[in-house]
Amino acid sequence: MRGYASVRRRDRRRMAKKIARERIDILFHLARERAEAGDLDLARRYVDLILRIARKYNIRLGREKKYHICKRCHAFLVPGKTAQVRLKKGKVVVKCLECGNYKRYPYR
Ligand SMILES: [Zn+2]
Repeated sequence: MRGYASVRRRDRRRMAKKIARERIDILFHLARERAEAGDLDLARRYVDLILRIARKYNIRLGREKKYHICKRCHAFLVPGKTAQVRLKKGKVVVKCLECGNYKRYPYR
């Protein structure tokens, strides 16, 4: 039956997305570990994977993940290590020390 098949397809897609989210969480964890250990190349490779999976499954990265990922060079940002964090006029300014890219957040 057509209707039934399409429901199953939707379920399967939802399941795939759930697994993709879990993989992203694991990769984020690994990326942080590698970045903190100073293994920036491997950290960047994990970040690449995170972004690829997120794009493929149309998953939005949460606030925390976005904060730690440099959009330009895909470095994992660790304050004091690969990122410089400053407060400026009510905003948090994060500078990627790998490529010099800036991002700004409203300060909460
Ligand atoms: Zn960067």
